[in-house]
Amino acid sequence: MRLLLVGALATMTAAGLAAIQPALLTREERAAASTIRESRMRADVRFLSSDLLEGRGPATRGDRLAREYLVARFEAMGLEPGAPGGTWEQGLELVGVTAACPEVLRVSTDAARTELRFHEDYVAFSGTQAPEARLDDAEIVFVGYGIVAPEHGWDDFKGADLRGRVLLVMNNDPENDPRTFAGKRRLYYGRWDYKYEMAARVGAAGAIIVHTDASAGYGWNVVQSSWTGEQLSLPAGPGEPTLPVKAWATEEACRRIARLAGRDLDALRASAERRDFRPVPLGVRLTLALRNEVSRRSSANVIGRLPGRDPVLSREAVVYSAHHDHLGTKTGPRGEPVVYKGALDNASGLATMLAIAEAFVALPERPRRSILFAAVAAEEQGLLGSAHLLRQPPVPAGRLAANVNIDGMNIWGRTRDVPVIGLGKSSLDDWVRAIAEAQGRAVVPEAFPDKGAYYRSDHLSFARAGVPSVTVDAGTEVLGKPAGWGRDRQREWEAAHYHQPTDDLVGWDFSGVVEDAQLLFLLGAKVADAPLAPSWRPGDEFEAARRKALAEVGR
Ligand SMILES: [Zn+2]
Repeated sequence: MRLLLVGALATMTAAGLAAIQPALLTREERAAASTIRESRMRADVRFLSSDLLEGRGPATRGDRLAREYLVARFEAMGLEPGAPGGTWEQGLELVGVTAACPEVLRVSTDAARTELRFHEDYVAFSGTQAPEARLDDAEIVFVGYGIVAPEHGWDDFKGADLRGRVLLVMNNDPENDPRTFAGKRRLYYGRWDYKYEMAARVGAAGAIIVHTDASAGYGWNVVQSSWTGEQLSLPAGPGEPTLPVKAWATEEACRRIARLAGRDLDALRASAERRDFRPVPLGVRLTLALRNEVSRRSSANVIGRLPGRDPVLSREAVVYSAHHDHLGTKTGPRGEPVVYKGALDNASGLATMLAIAEAFVALPERPRRSILFAAVAAEEQGLLGSAHLLRQPPVPAGRLAANVNIDGMNIWGRTRDVPVIGLGKSSLDDWVRAIAEAQGRAVVPEAFPDKGAYYRSDHLSFARAGVPSVTVDAGTEVLGKPAGWGRDRQREWEAAHYHQPTDDLVGWDFSGVVEDAQLLFLLGAKVADAPLAPSWRPGDEFEAARRKALAEVGR
């Protein structure tokens, strides 16, 4: 039914569209969507990005204030506490580890050795939450991309015993064949987090990612700044494999390691482009000790719930997510405190989620499925709050019908286009497309699919647990502006304000925020009422996780 309707919509003329729209959106849904207005959202952004909230760094006073505010807003609009145990907050522990790396790292064979300099040639951080992490004379094995993907007929490990080894692994995923690994689009297999996870799973003692600007999508300077200083993580789960040493090295340093083994890095990498690749022990050894400072703190996810009206479907839920943390307060050049206000990232997402919740409350009849509104913690530190939410979900993952994640809004005005990040991954696309068309807009793919934006915010935590997840990006074809204007504004913003103290509520045009918020509200409302829950497209990388989650709830 749904697909037929969408198919019909896609081929309709504008006049025909107007006639068919009532079939897609009810009068009640339109009326509820029209309650989403600028003033309320502006007020929420103003408070949440205030200096008094100290940049909402995890486990700070500002973090607690933001959470109090969100609880108060949820409570005022009549939602129920949605965290497990019937509370508003789902507490989570954060473990901070600061690793001290040796200035010089020696890699050797019996006959020769080379030295890697900290920062210049390599960075390393600890995957264990203990005072020390070490590698003792561990052998380095080149493992290509380090990918095991049955649905692509790909296995770089071929059952090799890699326990106690240090894996030298390429970033990204194979790109040459458009039929495997989605060609140039980066999949989760191509992410650095996947490389370390797989290394832990095969019992390796460490992993070194070969950095190139092209395979990372950014320069070595980003690796240097991201992986020095304190790293926060969740406490290791029971039985969860850990990887003691996680490292990155420059391409040049990796060339030296290969040469020491009498190998050529380019030839090794070329061999890894093939399915018949096997791990290559390099006969090169490494000793490294990281001294760790370990501290423990806590934050919480704030979760509100609107119970569904259907006696059966209400056990399922559509979950909206928006992270409430940002980068906190840092020290400026003259020792002064500098607040990273995080107005766009992500007070705008929180304000949008709150407005959407209010629109749901404004519906005369609640949707069939329940709706969860999750303001998740510690996203900037590696999606930690959402990962914790899926470890102890308020509703089992197999009963989460869909996730709509909101991380940063379009503050440059209404647009003709609606970029969907990860377009083509799930049937949620059909709903987004139909609603966008009802708004007179068109869905387009994200602008830079090779950058892997689908894997950089909280929807990834949901997707990894199998939950079909979607997030829309800011459109670039701004109404009333010349072509290219929107893209230029976004590029400018990214260069000047992204993760900077100047990400502030200044000069925003809320008209695009309102229209996108209405779209996301209608999306959740339609999905929550539909007889069938959304699904991943056949062959998607997260389809297997969905099957597992559904089996766990007996479906
Ligand atoms: Zn951010």
